[in-house]
Amino acid sequence: MLRGGIPLGRVFGISLKLNYTWFIIFALVTWSLTVYYFPDAFPEWSTVTSLVAGIITSLLFFCSVLAHELMHSIVAQKLGIPVHSITLFVFGGVSQMSEEPKTPKDELRIALAGPLTSIALGLIFGAIWYWLNPQYEFVLGIAFWLFWINLALAAFNLIPGFPLDGGRVLRSILWWRNKDLQKATKIASNIGRGVGYLFIFGGVFLVFQGLWINGFWLALIGWFLENAAVGSYQQVALLGMLQGHTAREVMTRDCPAIPPGLTLDELVNEHVLTTGRRCFPVTTDSRVLGLVTLSDIRAVPRSAWPTKRVSEAMTPLEKMKSVSPDDDLSKVLRYLTEGDINQVVVLDNGDIAGVIGRDNLLSFINLRGELGA
Ligand SMILES: [Zn+2]
Repeated sequence: MLRGGIPLGRVFGISLKLNYTWFIIFALVTWSLTVYYFPDAFPEWSTVTSLVAGIITSLLFFCSVLAHELMHSIVAQKLGIPVHSITLFVFGGVSQMSEEPKTPKDELRIALAGPLTSIALGLIFGAIWYWLNPQYEFVLGIAFWLFWINLALAAFNLIPGFPLDGGRVLRSILWWRNKDLQKATKIASNIGRGVGYLFIFGGVFLVFQGLWINGFWLALIGWFLENAAVGSYQQVALLGMLQGHTAREVMTRDCPAIPPGLTLDELVNEHVLTTGRRCFPVTTDSRVLGLVTLSDIRAVPRSAWPTKRVSEAMTPLEKMKSVSPDDDLSKVLRYLTEGDINQVVVLDNGDIAGVIGRDNLLSFINLRGELGA
């Protein structure tokens, strides 16, 4: 749900996306500003003035959240961690980093970059408000709201529950002290879950007090936080399980080469059904053109099998992600999840040594899970 979004463009090589759920928060913030906040603070404003101020404030709030997220990413990139994209959604932003930070110090820097940006922005808006007071009422109203919302944003993000920024700060300290990333993640994400439950109970309490909008909202944030904490821990545990194991260990070997002119019918009858193999490199003159897997075959309607050639059904090599036999499995997992692809090809000096599909990785993980390793 959080992966998709409307592309907004690229900044520092990071693609910015707006998830559809973000429009909910935009509408809610604009509405509450226009209907409650501005009419309360400035009763003499017309509805149109309040609405214009509401929209401008919401857009600046959006820019503030973006700046917070962007600073995390810029610092991460400076420390050598590529950041793919930032997606803004209903509760803020998610930076898609391709790796975990390498050291506790890096993690601390990346985690603090966001809240520090929010604090700086809050102070800037506060200074604008302070200097202009009591003139330029229109600007004052906007600046004051942005002053406290940015500080609130920093405060919320500094709650020490993983995967919030404060939880990352906590994790970096535990990681630095115990030299154990997984254990640190476990503690920090358990606190994250605890905070999530606290929010849910707080939300339910508020609902019983009759504050059902605030209560519902708080409980929703809590529920989201609890889920995120569980998910982030699982991800780190999974990476820990894969680390130190290489592509060679799980790849499907002996993929027999086939010529590009073969029809799918011939491929199925003469190669797939008789050998039980699942991957077939398409080669001419020992040059690899691409790969045909069972899912490529399935994508073609059965009626077209007698005429369709493997060269048309294959995934061309340049469209596939490749790893070397000695590459870490965490890299393979990253490729599979980031690229939304079903398999990576293992190349050894330009030759196909094997293929790793999602199922290969899954059975490796399951097996190790069952053995309690
Ligand atoms: Zn943050």
